[in-house]
Amino acid sequence: MTAVNLGLPRSSALPGGPGPRAGALPDAGDRPDHPGLVDRFGRVARDLRVSVTEKCSLRCTYCMPAEGLPAIPRDELLTASEIARLVGIGVRDLGVREVRFTGGEPLMRADLAEIIGLSAAAAPGVDLSITTNGIGLDHRIGALVEAGLTRVNVSLDTVDRAHFAELTRRDRLPAVLAGIRAAHDAGLSPLKLNAVMMRQTLADAPDLLGWAVDNGFLLRFIEQMPLDADHAWVRDNMVPAAELLEVLGNRFELTEAGRDDPSAPAEEWLVDGGPATVGIIASVTRSFCAACDRTRITAEGTVRSCLFGDDETDLRGLLRSGAPDAEIARWWRAAMWGKQKGHGIDSAAFAPPVRSMGAIGG
Ligand code: SAM
Ligand code: SF4
Repeated sequence: MTAVNLGLPRSSALPGGPGPRAGALPDAGDRPDHPGLVDRFGRVARDLRVSVTEKCSLRCTYCMPAEGLPAIPRDELLTASEIARLVGIGVRDLGVREVRFTGGEPLMRADLAEIIGLSAAAAPGVDLSITTNGIGLDHRIGALVEAGLTRVNVSLDTVDRAHFAELTRRDRLPAVLAGIRAAHDAGLSPLKLNAVMMRQTLADAPDLLGWAVDNGFLLRFIEQMPLDADHAWVRDNMVPAAELLEVLGNRFELTEAGRDDPSAPAEEWLVDGGPATVGIIASVTRSFCAACDRTRITAEGTVRSCLFGDDETDLRGLLRSGAPDAEIARWWRAAMWGKQKGHGIDSAAFAPPVRSMGAIGG
């Protein structure tokens, strides 16, 4: 039987476990008195990713098991108002500047517009975006924008329908393209597209880039990380950024244009002299952990300071046991102070995290 990576992380501060309760004080050891989400390596987290569900309409092989993730019991999921309260604390008290809702597939939550609307009210003016596979976005985009959505990233790995169906285990490319078109037409432009570099779609990469450039979409390729539920990731089989650049270079003239800002994970390249660009996120071969500015909240309401770190701090228990905002902020700060230095994929002792990407929120 194949081992499937679905379980809970190892921290004791977990939903259902003996996590923090209102009134308890976190021990952050030698942490300086700083209002923001600082860690012991000098990084400051300002970019918040909030997972809103583990459910998904696709089964991308690099993310989900074929049968999907086991359902999180409804009462263990954060509600729309709990999410908005955490967004408010993050922005008002902890220095968060942008918030991205993810999953699983955020469009699987019927109350996504409510989550966005309440978050916009809790943190006026903050940038609120979603990362989505785009399925159903054409029907929802109006309500989401009205609620306060400011940006959308759509994940799309190939424009070859058969290859898309193979990679995602669902024949849904037309639905994804309809979602992309609707987001573009709603004025959320330039629309960003994310593609994971996979060996089976490597030959499709030039067509995908050509299509994105022709349509005015900003495409970014991401190296595949060992975050698949099936634990099938193998270093020797992943497509490194250098190899992708070689494949793209056979069709396009690519000129290095650097990063938008030092903490931006993507290195930008001008396509055929510009102004079109393509981004390359070399998360594995050129790790940007030293500049990481992310903090994450899982769908069950735990703070996860690193994609690869299984230690989590349960904020849902605090929310539900009547803790005031200041106490929740203290626990969040303490969680971030303990953030690990990097993903450690190159270390001989590396073991993939217990949660897969879909269970963390990418
Ligand atoms: N369902 C939404 C989507 O696909 O955009 C949001 C959640 S998904 C987990 C967020 C992002 O993580 C997607 O862009 C996806 O391609 C990326 N992702 C998933 N598994 C990955 C992996 N093993 N390595 C790198 N990126 C991955
Ligand atoms: Fe679903 Fe996104 Fe994971 Fe694909 S990458 S299975 S669309 S959560």
